[in-house]
Amino acid sequence: MSQCPHCASTEAQTKAGHTHTGSQRYKCRACVRFYTPEPKPLGYPEETKREAVRLYLEGTNFRRIGRILSVNHQSVVNWVNAYHAALPEAEPSPSTPAVVELDKLFTFVGSKKRKPTSSQR
Ligand SMILES: [Zn+2]
Repeated sequence: MSQCPHCASTEAQTKAGHTHTGSQRYKCRACVRFYTPEPKPLGYPEETKREAVRLYLEGTNFRRIGRILSVNHQSVVNWVNAYHAALPEAEPSPSTPAVVELDKLFTFVGSKKRKPTSSQR
């Protein structure tokens, strides 16, 4: 049974939909306020991340994955990067085109913007 954090009542606590992160939200009918007893930790559930990586390995691009899973495509990029970083380095997998894509991505991230040389007259 839930307890209202506002008035400490344990009665008349009803489910009231979900927050934008998917946590169960409750409404206290005693004081008529909403609360979320167990807000989800930062970010998205592991399941969503795994699904994003799986879709990526199937050749789905970041933006499409973002649309499919209703997440920001930048989050997808981060998860794929984390996945790649966690891969054992001793296992080259030539059958996985995603590695090539990731290398491009890393190159892009690594090159950033270069300052123009200050030797102008
Ligand atoms: Zn209350």
